Amino acid sequence: METTTQHPIFDLLKTHFGYDQFLPNQEEIINNVLDQKDTIAIMPTGGGKSLCYQLPALALDGTAIVISPLIALMKDQVDALKANGISAAFFNSSQPYEAQQQILKNLQNGELKLLYVAPESLPQLNFILNSIKISLFAIDEAHCISTWGHDFRPAYTQLKSLKEQFPKIPLIALTATADRATREDIANQLTIPNAKIFIASFDRPNLYLDVRPGQNRNKQILDFLKRHRDENGIIYCLSRKSTEKLAATLSANGYRTEAYHAGLTSEERTQIQENFLNDSTPIIVATIAFGMGIDKSNVRWVIHYNMPKNIDGYYQEIGRSGRDGSPADTILFYSFADVIMLRKFAEGSETETYQLAKLERMQQYAEALSCRRKALLGYFGEHITEDCGNCDICKTPPKYFDGTLIAQKVCSAVARLQEQEALGMVLDVLRGSQNAQVFDKGYQRLKTFGAAKDIPWRDLQQYAIQLLNQGVLQIYFHENGRLLLTPLAKKVLFEEKKVRLANLLQEKEQPAIEKVKRKRAELFHKLRQLRLKLAQEINKPAFVVFSDATLEDMEH
Ligand code: ADP
Ligand code: MG
Repeated sequence: METTTQHPIFDLLKTHFGYDQFLPNQEEIINNVLDQKDTIAIMPTGGGKSLCYQLPALALDGTAIVISPLIALMKDQVDALKANGISAAFFNSSQPYEAQQQILKNLQNGELKLLYVAPESLPQLNFILNSIKISLFAIDEAHCISTWGHDFRPAYTQLKSLKEQFPKIPLIALTATADRATREDIANQLTIPNAKIFIASFDRPNLYLDVRPGQNRNKQILDFLKRHRDENGIIYCLSRKSTEKLAATLSANGYRTEAYHAGLTSEERTQIQENFLNDSTPIIVATIAFGMGIDKSNVRWVIHYNMPKNIDGYYQEIGRSGRDGSPADTILFYSFADVIMLRKFAEGSETETYQLAKLERMQQYAEALSCRRKALLGYFGEHITEDCGNCDICKTPPKYFDGTLIAQKVCSAVARLQEQEALGMVLDVLRGSQNAQVFDKGYQRLKTFGAAKDIPWRDLQQYAIQLLNQGVLQIYFHENGRLLLTPLAKKVLFEEKKVRLANLLQEKEQPAIEKVKRKRAELFHKLRQLRLKLAQEINKPAFVVFSDATLEDMEH
């Protein structure tokens, strides 16, 4: 039939979901699914992933099977769909037998547009799935399939056979975790090598990114709160005990606040969450247990009392502020003591290397000397060219110099090492280190061997970290954190793209050290003259009271 209806998916958007426009990438993703193609959708939390399978589920014949790891969130999603007049249900082990049977019946009769299933419950449905019309498979939180990810769920590995069993049915995998290794792992494990990958921007320009030294945190927080009275916010701490201590301190200073952590009963937790959602408790001091699935638009600030264990978590947590698009503040307190504690947590775990690499990247972000947003987005594989102007570094920038040559040297070393080596080895090669590993691999024959031997190791390391933070380099966390070149690196190498590097602290301090040295030399000179004069005047060298050693003592 010849139709003149312009955009059926826009109609569905409006009539069933009540929205006038798509969020970035939603339309492209939805069209890809409607074309019956496999899709990997990478969108930040709050980016609107659900709609990417919910709308096609309405547009296509049959039932969409949605695999979702969080039983608690399934009910919310299904309730929201039903409220929009869409027939949906969920199926998991927490339901009574009768309820399950009813759902299976509805499924068989083709009465459901969407069925949410916990991955563990999928085998129970296998038989029925073969006999009904399925519109699509959606795998939410798809990073759970990767053993390298932070939320590996063994039951997700069953999903590997889905494509084999249903080769003709389009599959969409959705996640907010975007590092390249995880992305590739998802495609491999789900055996959808030809899936089209959509990566939405992770940029949240309304969030002010601030990293501060972790001294006097309580005082800094109280000062901050004075200027942000009546605003809703979340403070994340590493331990249960510190949430309680800090909440007590804030209460004592007249703030309405509650501590939230996994040690509370589930009723207590639900209550606190509700108090926060309806604005009766504006400040929550929580462990990372708080916030998953919370969709509150007017959170005006998020503070990290301790450093998170990786950038993924940090990004998710700060992302809970400013969802309404209005300015929001985020503060990360950075202390080395936290790094040590987090290292201890990671040690001995099965994925220790991976976790430590991620932790190190988090630390590098906290120590960044260039635009924080560049560093944050670079981590997610997104490379912006302009500094953001909305972070602490952009606000009070360090001194920069033209670091293009250094950047080119580092990039060409990474290239000559075939993107196979981690930071330490790249630096060793550039510095021309005489160490056994370098020689074992024959790297001393490379053209870049010793290309930066004039730069001290630590400085070179800092410059390389700046290149990571500027998105010129990326770390492949999958295997011992080898360094990769980004498209930006290629511009630096081949198109003379200029790179600014921040002067290092040591360098900035150098003039000061020079001054002290000069002053000291002057002092020596004066004292020596004084000594000579004295000796001359009394004509008795025995009277010399200052030996050089005493002079040095005096100086200290
Ligand atoms: P994600 O799963 O990516 O974290 P959700 O699917 O939960 O995100 O959506 C986040 C919020 O965005 C929800 O409140 C949702 O209703 C809203 N949303 C989704 N699509 C649109 C749209 N096209 N226009 C406006 N709001 C939208
Ligand atoms: Mg979601």
